Amino acid sequence: MHHGPLIAILVAGLGLAFVFGALAHKLRISPLVGYLVAGVAVGPFTPGFVADQNLANELAEIGVILLMFGVGLHFSLKDLLSVKAIAVPGALVQIGTATLLGMGLGYLMGWTWVAGFVFGLALSVASTVVLLRSLQERRLVQTEKGKIAVGWLIVEDLAMVLALVMIPAVAEALRGAQPGMPSPLSGQFDLGLWGVLGFTLMKVVAFIAFMLVVGRRVIPWILHWVAHTGSRELFRLAVLAVALGVAFIAASLFGVSFALGAFFAGMILSESPLSQRAAEESLPLRDAFAVLFFVSVGMLFDPGILLRAPGPLLATLAIILIGKSLAAWLIMRAFGKSNAVALTISASLAQIGEFSFILAGLGVSLAILPAQARDLILAGAILSILLNPVLFALVDRFVGETGSVRQKPAPAEAAPATATELEPELDIVPTTLSDHMVVVGYGRVGALLGAGLLARGETVLVIEEQGDAVAIAKRDGAELLRGNAADPAVLAAAGLGRAKRLFVAIPQSFEAGQVCEQARRDNPALPIVARAHSDAEVAHLTKCGATLTIMGEAEIARAMLALCGAGEPPAEGEPQPAA
Ligand code: AMP
Repeated sequence: MHHGPLIAILVAGLGLAFVFGALAHKLRISPLVGYLVAGVAVGPFTPGFVADQNLANELAEIGVILLMFGVGLHFSLKDLLSVKAIAVPGALVQIGTATLLGMGLGYLMGWTWVAGFVFGLALSVASTVVLLRSLQERRLVQTEKGKIAVGWLIVEDLAMVLALVMIPAVAEALRGAQPGMPSPLSGQFDLGLWGVLGFTLMKVVAFIAFMLVVGRRVIPWILHWVAHTGSRELFRLAVLAVALGVAFIAASLFGVSFALGAFFAGMILSESPLSQRAAEESLPLRDAFAVLFFVSVGMLFDPGILLRAPGPLLATLAIILIGKSLAAWLIMRAFGKSNAVALTISASLAQIGEFSFILAGLGVSLAILPAQARDLILAGAILSILLNPVLFALVDRFVGETGSVRQKPAPAEAAPATATELEPELDIVPTTLSDHMVVVGYGRVGALLGAGLLARGETVLVIEEQGDAVAIAKRDGAELLRGNAADPAVLAAAGLGRAKRLFVAIPQSFEAGQVCEQARRDNPALPIVARAHSDAEVAHLTKCGATLTIMGEAEIARAMLALCGAGEPPAEGEPQPAA
């Protein structure tokens, strides 16, 4: 049967990305490496099926738009401001250092200074995906270190968004500087480098003004209007249309990058928590296209570079792993941060990823970056992402040895003066409680339940992963275990063997099932009460070992019914569920 190249690339790209991504997960390395390897497999440098590169590039472009939309959606001025004193100078010094080192290497390789500049810039920015994942794995997101690292990354992202707009202008100016080549960007006049940069900056300012004045009103209005239609499908479509539409307007009307447009669309949606949440629901599509983006990047990678240019590759890797880390470490220490904090930040930023690929792609397409530089960036990214967990392990070991931060089950008060009060999340501390109630999830259901149990004088241990809910549980007086209960290490720390009862009060039934299964294994006699929202979930949870399953919707109906039933109506706010 005949099929077009688009179907072939979607099937091969997504299918292989899944296979290699799952393999990477099994090997406990970043799935990004798996996606890139999938790209290499369907690329022209390996035997077998070769996907259409042009199509791959276009799909990747959509991936970039949606990735940038996501970056904008999660951009938080508040987070940035809370750590600006260190994140802004830190990121700028790090970008400067990496760029200079990249230019140095470029000089040795005989590239132009612009090529060296773009190359260095690409090496300077860490991957959000990799960073967040490694912070989450180590439960560092809410710690001081995590906040600094994220703020630092936001500054890097902003700098790159600007670079994506400016680099084409620079390329244009340089081309314009060549006699006999008219410059379409600057019209008939040759504005020179500064003129073109100024002109581009003006366009950026015009676009931002347009978004602040028009976009900020029109976009929420469209979303509210669509919300009133009551169609979830239309709503998600609207979000997607906004993301792609704004990116397109940015590029075609204002001549700024797709990336900047999408970033702004995301930022405007993130202003209200409601639309941010709704926009997040449309992110699965982003994930699919982001995967295609990584696959298309992998397709460009020529593994031959590993053999052809081992020296420059080692130098590239040294810039990413040592040069950047050293700059970050020095500036953190200069700002009086502890060695442990400085080392963790350095390790988390010692990798490169999506922005580097975008910059490399842009540089090559504008003919200001040699293909070899792109290959070095890709190889450097793959290797640095692979080495990132090793780096973290080294830091853990080093910091553990120096004894300045590693928090073993010792009480928090014993923390050394350098550690912040947020630090104790570093390790999962097994509980010493016995005869306690374990509540998983402290949201709408868990919080009511936990408070009720505490009021009855029970000892309660809460497992919760989200900051706000954790704070409420703490305030209520429960003992806390922070993390994902579906993570076996977290659940193992809950002392289920000695617990009185386990309440699984989270809405995601797959995770809840996993919790029930493990709890049942840990303690075959433990009464487990689980929350469900459908008959299928009830069946699933029962099969996984829940003793009793409460279906939320059924209880709501019972409580409603009880209100209009015969006999005494229940007191207000205290509907009594029928037996
Ligand atoms: P709600 O649906 O309002 O009862 O909220 C559910 C709560 O459970 C939220 O606070 C989530 O952060 C939390 N939660 C969801 N899944 C997990 C999990 N796997 N481990 C720990 N907490 C979870």
